[in-house]
Amino acid sequence: MNRPINHTHDPKLRSWIESANDKETDFPIQNLPFGVFSHQNRMGTPHIGVAIGRQILDLFACCQLGLFQELPEPLTLACRSSNLNELMALGTWASSTLRDRLSQLLRLKNSQSPPEANILVPIAEAKLLLPAKIGDYTDFYASIFHATNVGQLFRPDNPLLPNYKYIPVGYHGRASSIVPSGTRIKRPQGQQKNSQESVPTFGDSRFLDYEMEVGFFVSSGNELGRSIAIDQAEEHIFGLCLVNDWSARDIQAWEYQPLGPFLGKSFATTISPWVVTLEALAPFRCPAFVRPEADPKPLKYLSSLLDAQLGGINLTVEVLLSSAQMREQEMLPVSLSKASFQQMYWTIAQMLTHHTSNGCNLRSGDLLASGTVSGAESGSQGSLLEITKRGSQPIKLPTDEMRSFLEDGDRVILRGYCEQKGFARVGFGECRGEIYEDRLSTQTTERVESK
Ligand code: CA
Repeated sequence: MNRPINHTHDPKLRSWIESANDKETDFPIQNLPFGVFSHQNRMGTPHIGVAIGRQILDLFACCQLGLFQELPEPLTLACRSSNLNELMALGTWASSTLRDRLSQLLRLKNSQSPPEANILVPIAEAKLLLPAKIGDYTDFYASIFHATNVGQLFRPDNPLLPNYKYIPVGYHGRASSIVPSGTRIKRPQGQQKNSQESVPTFGDSRFLDYEMEVGFFVSSGNELGRSIAIDQAEEHIFGLCLVNDWSARDIQAWEYQPLGPFLGKSFATTISPWVVTLEALAPFRCPAFVRPEADPKPLKYLSSLLDAQLGGINLTVEVLLSSAQMREQEMLPVSLSKASFQQMYWTIAQMLTHHTSNGCNLRSGDLLASGTVSGAESGSQGSLLEITKRGSQPIKLPTDEMRSFLEDGDRVILRGYCEQKGFARVGFGECRGEIYEDRLSTQTTERVESK
């Protein structure tokens, strides 16, 4: 099920695009993540692109120039699309064949001069869009550290519910409000009630939070009624991105029982624009999280020797914050936490298999997210809820501003990268969003009638 390491991962490869050879770049020639972009002056409809250094290789332009002539027709057709759904639907062979061709095209070779035509757009000039039409979005809860931290805040005596070690817990999220990195996030309004109040109020969320997560896109889907076996699961995963599952803790706390998250989550979810393929991540695969001896073994349909050996991903995710005041004073964003995706209790294969285990059909372009990535150590908690212990222990920013939860003007930036000795560093780019308050809508704040 795991993708083999091949010539496209060779750390000695260099590109004729100079910025791709920078040791610090997220997008060396060994990465080749896919995204969708538009450019004001160059084209009407969005094109599929591949990030390489500080440039985007325009796949539509490559097709026009005949650079993909030897590729199978369904693949070149998919490259002309304005989203990644068709490419995802073709399955593993397609993205792998394309990656091979792109690696050849972008490599520095003494015998061949690079194509001179207009196939590159600087990332800085492009508008980066959602990579796919996301039909459905599901959010899991796969970090046992996050689940335990949050559980302790709400149920100190019984932090982890009895199903946690058996079921990759998840809920159906809202696809319509998934936005690309850079989109401003309006502070949501909603019902909330704290423990001192006898009735709820309606108004701006005051406990607005982020959740640092990793998302993965479905490549080929499954028919309704047919589940996907654990050892085939990764054949149905196209690649990964970063996800910020913005969460209004006050709205969430009042609404979530008995049916789970709803309006406290559905106002916005931000994703990073580049999808890093599972093939690009092959050098960074590692054993899945090792369960303590006393924990139950996963049930058979979620159990696989191969997944235990290689189902983990050595991916570091980091969250940074910059307040409006910090930017005014030209301060760099401050890092709030850093965690390893390897520490997740459930693997991406287990999440996908569990999702289809009742016969639920996944479709190309569906997005599944891991849930907040938190680790065991301090400094590895992926939400403010955990860091500030539900607001009771605010943190201090370099400007001496205090934060329990997010304030207007706060910018949250997620970053992700994989590093492994003997391989080129592969990064995910940024997933960023900034909170603003819509002053007009705040006038509608009112108390809910009580009887
Ligand atoms: Ca979440």
